Amino acid sequence: MIRIRLGRRTYVGGGRETTAAHPFLERELTGWDPTMSDREVYDAARGWWRLSERALREKYAVVVGEGTVRMVVEIDRWAENGDRRGFAGTVLEPGHPVHDALVGEPDPVPTGSRNPVAYFRHPAEAGTCRCGCGDTVAAGEWAQGHDQRALHELLNEDFDGSVSRFLDWYHHHRAADAT
Ligand SMILES: [Zn+2]
Repeated sequence: MIRIRLGRRTYVGGGRETTAAHPFLERELTGWDPTMSDREVYDAARGWWRLSERALREKYAVVVGEGTVRMVVEIDRWAENGDRRGFAGTVLEPGHPVHDALVGEPDPVPTGSRNPVAYFRHPAEAGTCRCGCGDTVAAGEWAQGHDQRALHELLNEDFDGSVSRFLDWYHHHRAADAT
């Protein structure tokens, strides 16, 4: 799942944010506050984020405002806007097991990171491939070959595809952990 943490409610537009007029996502507000309607929160959460390829396989976006999960969206399509991506989908209703497991709960990824986007795996996803593709796995954590693909994506995204850079990083950190 993707966690998207919204900041304070702010108005988009006034000519400052051209993304406001994107046909995939027209909105007046970003961020979150308790006065916003579900529709406004949904549109605030949908974009525009710097996201890796990995995001495209995730099924759920978990929207956090002021430290609490406010909404879960089942993602069904994506759009690009420059180097950013946005999604659309269905807002889960009460009674859906993923909604009921998460909405109203604390931020599932309570890191200190300023990045509003984080990935996590929720128990509701048990029995599906770890990569987020949604494939069912009878045993283990990965569909066939998807662990390899995840590793290659990590190499490409964080190490420019260089195994040498990855190994240098790994040995550096392993040495630091050993001291
Ligand atoms: Zn997979």
